[in-house]
Amino acid sequence: MHVGTSYKQRTPDGAFDAIVVGSGIGGLACAAALAKYGKKRVLVLERHYRIGGYTHAFSRRGYEWDVGVHYLGELGPRGAVRGIFDRLTDGTLRWAPLPDVYDRIVLGDRSYDYVTGARRFASKMIEYFPGETEAIGRYVTLVKQVSRAGARYFVDRALPRAVSRLAGPLLRRGYMRYATRTTREVLRELTRNEELIAVLTGQFGDYGLPPSRSSFAIHAAVASHYLGGAWYPIGGAGAIARAFAPIVEAAGGELSHSAEVAEVLVEGGRAAGVRMRDGRTFRADLVISDAGAANTFGALLPEAERPASLVKALRSATPSVGYMCLYLGFRHTDAELGLTGTNLWLYPDADHDANIARFLADPSAPLPLVYASFPSAKDPSFQERFPGRATIDLITLCPWDWVEKWKDTTWMKRGADYEALKASFSERLLEVLFARLPQLRGKVDHAELSTPLTTRHFASHPRGELYGLDHDPARYRLPLRAQTPVPGLYLTGADLVSAGVAGGLVAGVLTAGAILGVRTILDIMRR
Ligand SMILES: Cc1cc2nc3c(=O)[nH]c(=O)nc-3n(C[C@H](O)[C@H](O)[C@H](O)COP(=O)(O)OP(=O)(O)OC[C@H]3O[C@@H](n4cnc5c(N)ncnc54)[C@H](O)[C@@H]3O)c2cc1C
Repeated sequence: MHVGTSYKQRTPDGAFDAIVVGSGIGGLACAAALAKYGKKRVLVLERHYRIGGYTHAFSRRGYEWDVGVHYLGELGPRGAVRGIFDRLTDGTLRWAPLPDVYDRIVLGDRSYDYVTGARRFASKMIEYFPGETEAIGRYVTLVKQVSRAGARYFVDRALPRAVSRLAGPLLRRGYMRYATRTTREVLRELTRNEELIAVLTGQFGDYGLPPSRSSFAIHAAVASHYLGGAWYPIGGAGAIARAFAPIVEAAGGELSHSAEVAEVLVEGGRAAGVRMRDGRTFRADLVISDAGAANTFGALLPEAERPASLVKALRSATPSVGYMCLYLGFRHTDAELGLTGTNLWLYPDADHDANIARFLADPSAPLPLVYASFPSAKDPSFQERFPGRATIDLITLCPWDWVEKWKDTTWMKRGADYEALKASFSERLLEVLFARLPQLRGKVDHAELSTPLTTRHFASHPRGELYGLDHDPARYRLPLRAQTPVPGLYLTGADLVSAGVAGGLVAGVLTAGAILGVRTILDIMRR
């Protein structure tokens, strides 16, 4: 079942209280919160032919793959993220737990398991590193503490400016101390054991930056997010948009896909609606952008209306690295192939920073990270929906510069040299997978590689960014707020909070709270 209607077939009509540009999780959560808690009639406009942004799923030749949803944390019965999803979707989304070992970190020939539960995680790490008991204990306490401080820091981004001027310093205190330092700096204060640091940062692909470049804030957020284990949406990633849409529609709203917004209309200094790529306009007093900070302030706002200081600050921010994903299909079940839902993080060795630097300088250097996810094994409904089949996603990093020269070519017709580049990376990704799971050799039925050009084409991230703005220490000093300097225009999505489905979800709630009042945030996020 597809969500929403095509803009090409039906023009949304009637009066809308709010327009949301982009249907990523931030846009969907904000639209649902405005509809459910503010009785607002919301129009969601999505450029892609599927609703969902990075949470959409796509099908090909009898297979289905997720794009940006491989696992989420805090979804147990009392989990914070579970509570938000349940309140915004009336509890219709269902979640399947990943195996007890949700992540396996492989450093060359050594393998380390992340097990479910903070205490069990710590014990397992102590088993691997018996001399590091104290460091591991302090680490687990610290990531939880910094992540809690993050909640206060981000709520400040939704407060009215006047309130934030007073309360902000208090709310941000405690967080900035860690947010403005790198993961490596903070971890080196806990331990000098490089193997342990490599294992503890083994999920760095979840935020795209190695330990010496990432902010400790994002490391703490991701690490603590998964300490209680991981889950996957039953019905695949597409179930997320299917759960949000009826909430928006019940309040008279609409979700329109294949609907590209060209510009935010600004009249008398305030947002007044949007102009579409085809010239049509839709009016509303509230415009919410889930299209990312770079798109919102650098492209969607008319040049004369762009807030100069924010644009300048964003110019100095680094966009996150791009990625390649090899989508694999098998005409065998997971059981036949011996696949489970445990994610594999495959690294050549323990020096993540050096591996990334070498690869970025020389694409023929060993792949610095390969993330293998097994969507069909994670989703208990997959066999019902796609009998006798299995899927795998293999992801590695790919900077935009490597594909930029083909940016003006057409999707699926980019030329032989582009296809050759893709074929060579596909081959290399497969070899890494086969080295770990040799039983898969000779069994691949479908393989299709996406590059940053694909991401730009489908998700509109200008440089095919994996995670919007980089999660380096500088990001946490950016003056980003839900209420932008243009009255009536709001920002939501990962750039407001952080990458990740949970980051986007929380951003959606914060933006709705900035519009409806802080009470809404408390109502939706209460534990
Ligand atoms: C490969 C990959 C794997 C990931 N794995 C995980 C994971 O396992 N767990 C996890 O928690 N997170 C994961 N993430 C991160 C997570 O998916 C994203 O951070 C999050 O979904 C981003 O949500 P968002 O609302 O910010 O925006 P997006 O999902 O980026 O959506 C923005 C939407 O805006 C639309 N848009 C842009 N411009 C316009 C316009 N002019 N008009 C109309 N529409 C427009 C775009 O088409 C897009 O659909 C992954 C991401 C990627 C890329």
